[in-house]
Parts: sequence; C-alpha cells; structure tokens
Amino acid sequence: MGKVWFVGAGPGAPDLITVRGARLLAEAGAILYTGSLVAETVLQWATPECEIADSKTMALAEVTAWLLDRAQRHAVVVRLQTGDPTLYGVVAELARPLDAAGIPVGIVSGVSSAMASAAAAGECLTLPELTQTVIFTRLSERTAMPESESFASLAAHGCTLCIFLSIERIDAVVTQLIAAGWAETAPIVIVHKATWPDEVVLRGTLNDIVAQCRAAQIDRQALILVSPALGARFRASNTTSKLYDAAFPRRFRPAQPTSED
Ligand code: SAH
Repeated sequence: MGKVWFVGAGPGAPDLITVRGARLLAEAGAILYTGSLVAETVLQWATPECEIADSKTMALAEVTAWLLDRAQRHAVVVRLQTGDPTLYGVVAELARPLDAAGIPVGIVSGVSSAMASAAAAGECLTLPELTQTVIFTRLSERTAMPESESFASLAAHGCTLCIFLSIERIDAVVTQLIAAGWAETAPIVIVHKATWPDEVVLRGTLNDIVAQCRAAQIDRQALILVSPALGARFRASNTTSKLYDAAFPRRFRPAQPTSED
C-alpha cells in the first residue's frame, strides 16, 4: 500500500514548488492536481510514466475514491494543490477516508499565494510599529464564516489582511473595509495569477480599486492585500525595525554599546 502526499504546488511558477515537493512529483506513480488553479507547468517534475489526472470536474467523493484506488497500486501518490495545502485546501475532508482506510498521509508545504502576491508587488506584510499581525481570511459566501470571524470584525483590527477567494466581490470587500474604519484613500493591492506569465498587479485605493478591477477584467484567481504597510518602501520613514537596532539585545548577539552609551 502506498502513501498519499498532499503537496503544495506553490502559486504558479514551476520553480516555486519546494525541492521536497518536486522530488515527490518525480517519484509519484499517480498525481491528481486541481486543474482550475495549479499551473500545468509544475507537472514538468513528473516522469512520463506517471498517471496524471485533473480533478477540476470531480466531486470531493470522486477525488477521495481516486486517491484510495491509486494508493493500492503505487508507493507514492500525490494530490497536488495550489499554494500551501493547509490554507483553504480541504485536506481534512480528503484525508479522513484515507485515515479510515489505514493509508498513510503526508503534507508538504507550498508557497502560499499570499506570500507570492506580496513578493510580486514588492511589498512586506509587516512593518515595525505599523502592523505586526497578518490575517488570512475571505468573505463569507457558500462556505459560512464562524460568527466570531465576521469580515467586519477582522477588518476593524487595522492590521494586514490577505483576502482569498473574494475578488468576485471586491465591491463588497471595499464597502466592508470602509464600514470597519479604513479610509477611502487607504492603499490596496490586487494580484491576479501571482508568478504566472500573465500575472497582473493592481495598486490603488479603496476609492478606485473596483473600477481598476473592472477595467482590467480581474474577477478570479486574485489575492487582495490591504495593509497600513503597503507602499511603505516608497514613503520616507525613520521607523526601522528594532531587529536592526544595535542596542537591541538579541538571543545570539550581545547588545552593542551605541554612541550615546
Ligand atoms: N492554498 C492556496 C489557496 C487556495 S484558495 C494558497 O495557499 O494560496 C484559492 C484562492 O487563492 C483564489 O481564490 C485566490 O484568492 C488565491 N490564489 C491562488 N493562486 C493564486 C495566484 N497565483 N495569484 C493570486 N491569488 C491566488
């Protein structure tokens, strides 16, 4: 009996899968990938003999049945998922029947589209004194949100928000951000297909981003970044991280005396 690996494919560019993920693709006897989101170029790490299937049109039960079946025949079976499999990846639902059948399961991290989008836009998600917290969230839709995690209450923190699965409702995102206290002039970044050849990065404010998305026809596969840290690189600032302050004691480096000592 084989082992089923849930492997993060990364955001799109084939060289953004981890070395471990690529090695498992090369060893796999069978790969089931989410064709709606995973870039097919990532499959270049598989061997020509490998059985490769797209789960785009499969229901959850069919995906499970496929993985259960292939695990009887191959030592290594890969379920290839976009970004990092532990974020919005239904791994628990898929792994439960495998666990019940006694099939070993492993998870391999991937570069999440949240990280890839920040990098594509040349942005940092945290900045000293401005924000040190990142929330990964989405608007509620078919998948209901827990009551304590309403978008409005999360947005009210004013920290960085990485908003998945919500670009179709960018107008509602903007309305709710403003209702939660964000200024209409607050910066917002949209990254469509981060690291794909046709990647698009839109920068705007809450005021103009809906029109920008409409003009660029971006209504799917995009990450929404909202943060007081956006654009910080382009602003003059005398706030630098304490990490780089010579007087700040670090674990492996004793504090250095400064000129004022
Ligand atoms: N596990 C994935 C997220 C899956 S949910 C991850 O870690 O990235 C699917 C959502 O992820 C999409 O609706 C979109 O918001 C985002 N997404 C996935 N790939 C993306 C990409 N290449 N660029 C921008 N957003 C992406």
